[in-house]
Amino acid sequence: MDDVTGLGRRLGVMGGTFDPIHYGHLVTAEAAAEEFDLEQVIFVPAGQPPHKPPGAVSDAGHRYLMTVLATLANPRFAVSRVDIERPGPSYTVDTLRELRRQFGSGVELYFITGADAMLQILQWKDPESLFELCHFIAATRPGYGLSRLEKVLGPTALRHRDRILPLQVPALAISSTDIRRRVREGRSVRYLLPDAVAHYIAKSGLYAEKRVARA
Ligand code: ATP
Ligand code: MG
Repeated sequence: MDDVTGLGRRLGVMGGTFDPIHYGHLVTAEAAAEEFDLEQVIFVPAGQPPHKPPGAVSDAGHRYLMTVLATLANPRFAVSRVDIERPGPSYTVDTLRELRRQFGSGVELYFITGADAMLQILQWKDPESLFELCHFIAATRPGYGLSRLEKVLGPTALRHRDRILPLQVPALAISSTDIRRRVREGRSVRYLLPDAVAHYIAKSGLYAEKRVARA
């Protein structure tokens, strides 16, 4: 018999490196929850992002804590450690299977992603299964329109086009890359990410200029 636990529940899943988490992620998650009537949005910091070299990202412990700090005040937001605790590269298909196991196979999962990340979908592991496991909410941000996405979708994604739901979010040209650069250069990051996360970065010394070790 089919396991239908969780039937009727709609959960958002926001995967990312979150190095660090910022208002672009938070505004997008909130907009997705409202627009698609999601009961919760689960933020899933990647353990080892498959497309970034190991060592190129901050410790998972730091990224997890910053994500918890940023989402604390929103009752609809939660953070999961599934990717951090699973060894090896964090493939989205494995994340979704694990979440389905935890919440019940009857839940409807909505994977929230920026349209730029959707553009890489064909490189993701097992795209056919991905479309069976979840709907995609593709948020547009400056420079990454959905029309561009349409052009590069391969046959698998085109067959499942009804599973890709576009979402317009307020134009937020915020990226973690820019925030890391600002911190390294000693520039302000105020209003780009929650204060608690900015304080955490300052206290932990994350993203500060790396000193060259002297012999
Ligand atoms: P980096 O610059 O290090 O790549 P990032 O800002 O893109 O970081 P990620 O952790 O890589 O952040 O992104 C996680 C998810 O959030 C991805 O799906 C990405 O497309 C989306 N995202 C990132 N920034 C924004 C933004 N400003 N608006 C909407 N979605 C965003
Ligand atoms: Mg990114």
